[in-house]
Parts: sequence; C-alpha cells; structure tokens
Amino acid sequence: MPTAMNEVRDLPSYNDSTISAFDNAMKQFDAAAEVLNLTTDQVAVIKEPRRVTEVKLPIRMDNGSIQVFKAYRVQHNIARGPAKGGVRFHQDVNLDEVKALAFWMTYKCAVVNVPFGGGKGGVIVEPSKLSKGELERLARRYFAEMMDLFGPDKDVPAPDVGTNPQIMSWFMDTYSMHHGEFTPAVVTGKPIELGGSEGRTEATAQGLMYTVEEAVKHLGMDLKKCAVAVQGFGNVGSYSAKLFHKAGSKIVAISDVSGAYRNEKGIDIPKIFDYLKDHKTLEGVDKAMGLTKMKNAMELLELPVDILVPAALENQITKKNADKIKAKLIAEGANGPITTDADNTLNQKGTFVIPDILCNAGGVTVSYLEWVQNRMGYYWRDERIQEDLSRIMKQSFQAVLETSKQYKVDMRVAAFIVSIQRVTRASEMRGLYA
Ligand code: NAD
Repeated sequence: MPTAMNEVRDLPSYNDSTISAFDNAMKQFDAAAEVLNLTTDQVAVIKEPRRVTEVKLPIRMDNGSIQVFKAYRVQHNIARGPAKGGVRFHQDVNLDEVKALAFWMTYKCAVVNVPFGGGKGGVIVEPSKLSKGELERLARRYFAEMMDLFGPDKDVPAPDVGTNPQIMSWFMDTYSMHHGEFTPAVVTGKPIELGGSEGRTEATAQGLMYTVEEAVKHLGMDLKKCAVAVQGFGNVGSYSAKLFHKAGSKIVAISDVSGAYRNEKGIDIPKIFDYLKDHKTLEGVDKAMGLTKMKNAMELLELPVDILVPAALENQITKKNADKIKAKLIAEGANGPITTDADNTLNQKGTFVIPDILCNAGGVTVSYLEWVQNRMGYYWRDERIQEDLSRIMKQSFQAVLETSKQYKVDMRVAAFIVSIQRVTRASEMRGLYA
C-alpha cells in the first residue's frame, strides 16, 4: 500500500538489531590500528566517515499517490581519490549499514591499490514492489538530490544489492542531462552499450575465484575435490557458483531469499541459470530439479563443506553460529558477513577466511578499469580486463598473506594493515587544507 506524502517507509530490519555492522567495522579497524601503533591523530582522520548525507525522495507512484523514500550517501574517505561505492536498494537499508559499507570501500580500494576512496549509498525500498516507471523515477530523483556530491572526480557510484546496469544508466543519464554533456565516468557497472566494461558483470565473482585459487594453493587443497556451499544467488553468489562448478568443485547447497536448497551429490549450476531465465528467484527449484529445500536456510552455513561462500548480506556468521561452521575456507563474497565475535571463534578453530575487502574487490577493480576506459574513450577487450583483474587480485592476496605472516595476524587484520598504511600515507602527504 502506498503511504501518504509525509510518511517514509521504514521497514523492519533483516539484521539482528543487536549487531551493528558499523561497530563491527570499527572493531576491525581498531585491531589493525593497534598492530600499526597508529597515533590518535592518525586514527581521527581516517576512521570515521567524512560526509554523511540523508535525503527524502518523494516519488509519484503509478496510482497517482506520492510515496516518500529515505536515502543516504556516505563518503567515508577521499584521500586516495574520488569516493567509490555502490548504491543499495533494499527495504532494510539503514545509516549504520551504509556507513559500514562506505568504510569497507575505503579499505577495499586501498587493499587492491586502485586510486579511489570509499563511499556507499542506499535507499530504503523493496525494488521488486515498484513498477519499472516508479523505479526509474526513484533512481533519477536519488541522483538529482545528490547531484553536487557526484562526479567522475568526486564520487562514482556503482551497483550493489537491488541495483543493476539499468539503474546505473538512469543515474548516468540524469547526471549527463543536468550537465549538458555525456559523462559515462560518473558511474560504473553500466551496460556495455553505454560505456560499461567487458567483464564487469562477473568481475566480483571472478576476483573472488582468483583469491580462492591462491588460498587453496596455500592450504594444500584441491578445488576439484572441494564441496562448496554458496549463500545468496545474486550477482556475486550466482557467478561464484558458476565458476566453482567450472573449476570442478561440487556445489552442494545454494540459497536466496526464497530459501536454501541442497544436494549432496552436487547441483548442476548451468541448469540453475536456465531455471532462473523463467523464474525471478530459486522458489520451486527443489521440485523442478530434485533438490532438498532446507528447513532452516541459515543451516546452509553449517553444512560439512570445504569452502563456504557467504554472498548475500552482512552479519550472517555471528557468535550464535560461528562454532558450528565446518568449512575450512570461507570466501567472503558479501560485505561484512562475519561479525568480530565470530571472527575470533573461527580463528581459534583454524578456519581460513579471505576477508571481504580483499575477496570481493574484483568488482571495484573492474569498475576502476571501466572508469579509466570512459575517461580515455577507448575500450579494451575482455582478455585485457581479465589479465589486469587476475594480476591485481593475485598480487593483493599474496601481499596480504605475507603481511599476515610478518605480523602473525589473521588475513582480515593483515588486509587492514596493508590498506590502512596506504590510506594513512596518502592522507599525511596531502596534509590538512587550511
Ligand atoms: P544481488 O542483489 O545481486 O543478490 C543478493 C542475493 O542475496 C539475492 O540472491 C538474494 O535473494 C539473496 N539474499 C537476500 N537475503 C538473503 C538471505 N537472508 N539469505 C540468503 N540469501 C539472501 O546482490 P549482489 O550484488 O550479489 O551483492 C551480494 C553481496 O555482495 C552484498 O553484500 C554486496 O554488498 C556484496 N558485493 C557486491 C559486489 C558487486 O559487484 N555486485 C561487489 C562487492 C561486494
């Protein structure tokens, strides 16, 4: 039901309200800052977000009523370049989450050394409930309200949960019309026809896979003998499942908002892709493909697998279930799927975690390549993109692994050590304006 003009739709949160993603992010920062012995001044400049914007977006709905949506853009840090980060359209978006996601973007860009800072945006909306026209008006109004923040050298959004290349096209068009010039570099994740890059759609999953290959080598595992469970079957989860399947691993469970589905003998992922051509979600896939629907979707995380890929949302592995996790290797496709408490338990158990800011950085890496191509007006072939992505992800993994050995810390703390050092150096070399 549409709400009245002065109401904002604030739907209940999917998150356990006792867990703050931003608090977890701050604890992750503190752990690395302590190892690095950062001064209070250094911490003060780079830890908290630098700009938080909140707006209300009034949208004319198809039935003539007006609905008002709350929206955010957070710029966490711009010491190393323009703010960079996706825009999430989801009913459970909240400022705490957007601040955490913007923080992770700063350190994600730094860990793979792409010249961007960190930002993130969000709109409290359930996009599947809107018509295409309503969605377009919402996307355009979001960009128009934030117009002064955005720009190829200021802040460059991208897709995240609930947004896609079509929405990026509307963002880009809104900005271009307003400025009277075609400006593809103002957003990434665009369709190829509008200056998108080859390889961007699968980039996050492909990047994840490159880090998994390095981890598997390091741990002496064999991908062909691995059983894998993937939580979330959107952009990151589905392409990750496809790449694991291609690598010869056995995908024993997958999930999305409709539930979790398993088959110990292995799930035929290309057939799941076929199924999704005619279905919006995995609902009904159990009957159509002979899978077992799990009674409790969260139990997917606790299955006896070699590799677990959380690729849905944050705060999935917490102190409540961390001791039940059996995977030897966790590849964080999602941002923030493991809380700090859970990290400690997993460390004690010897679980090897490839942390989100490294593991899912393939998306922003190819976004960077897209932005470079937009600015040159010259476009590379997929081979060139894959070569750069593979090199950047593998080198970054090795740099983090070396740091973890050097400081005797886990991979997450090591990733923050590498990235915090880069952000601190850039920040100090720039100095303070005025
Ligand atoms: P998406 O919207 O394409 O997919 C999200 C998936 O999660 C959907 O399949 C949805 O059904 C599922 N889902 C939602 N709630 C769930 C639940 N409670 N249990 C199981 N599944 C659930 O989003 P995406 O782009 O794939 O993003 C997924 C995660 O990866 C997010 O944390 C996002 O921030 C992160 N990420 C995405 C990119 C990217 O390039 N798309 C890059 C880096 C990180």
